[in-house]
Amino acid sequence: MTDPTDAPSLPKHLHLIEVGPRDGFQMESTFIPTDLKVATLDRLSASGVREIEATSFVHPKVIPQMADADEVMARIERNPAVRYLALVPNRRGAERALKAGIDGLRLVVCATETYNQRNVGLSVDESLRDFEQIVRLGEREDVEVSAVMAAAFGCPFEGKIDDSVVLELAQRFVDAGTHRVGLGDSAGLANPLQIRRLLRKYRDRLGDFPLWLHLHDTRGFGIANTIAALEEGVTRFDTSLGGLGGCPVMKGASGNVSTEDLLYLCREMEIETGVDLDAIREASRALQDFLGRPLASRVLQAGTRSELVARNQ
Ligand code: ZN
Repeated sequence: MTDPTDAPSLPKHLHLIEVGPRDGFQMESTFIPTDLKVATLDRLSASGVREIEATSFVHPKVIPQMADADEVMARIERNPAVRYLALVPNRRGAERALKAGIDGLRLVVCATETYNQRNVGLSVDESLRDFEQIVRLGEREDVEVSAVMAAAFGCPFEGKIDDSVVLELAQRFVDAGTHRVGLGDSAGLANPLQIRRLLRKYRDRLGDFPLWLHLHDTRGFGIANTIAALEEGVTRFDTSLGGLGGCPVMKGASGNVSTEDLLYLCREMEIETGVDLDAIREASRALQDFLGRPLASRVLQAGTRSELVARNQ
């Protein structure tokens, strides 16, 4: 019999980008005190994570939770080994982010016109024009700029999306000078077969142009989708501590794939991440205590194998 672990070829290393302080925090209706945001970022930057989406520079009227973005960036203890990224809705946000010392910028462009209008009040063309300007701004400051496509696997407003639309937009990201292409499943509508199909089409169209995935676990497919992508050779994933996250303009949105769950899966499958699970859990627990509800991460709630065994002694 062949060894079943030989069957799919999995990468030996996975690169996590922690997005909880942005995707997660923006969904919380209770204002998370600046002190706790700073403490969370400092815990994360000491965990071995090498990229953190630290905040977003949106207008405070749109997302009040992010009103203290500049202050947060000024107060964190910068780890020189960590790249601090920010999400920006437009050029003005990009200028603020650069002033705050952000190392990398991300701009969301939605795969459909309706979602993009609801999200940033612009057409897809207008967002792409903004993106080109932000890329130039980034070049001047030597900061990488990437576009991430929301709703690449299905739209909360327009439903199904043709793969060709996604690939065409990805091509436009590349033409506009993106550093990497981000494919997001903001609504948690993707399934593993769809992930495989789209990734193969992506490779046919864009070859090995670097990409990352931003997957939500809204319907419980997050980890399954991640494994499908790993088997297709993707090694960069956004995850969120505790499984926090969502999308403020979409009803029925919920968390990202949890950092803890993916870390533990990687540990069990011997995929190197360089990230300390315990450090992430400590950061999640502090947030859980403040928010007063159990967070979605399964490993945060259930613990690891050795903890289970210890509990049953
Ligand atoms: Zn998201």
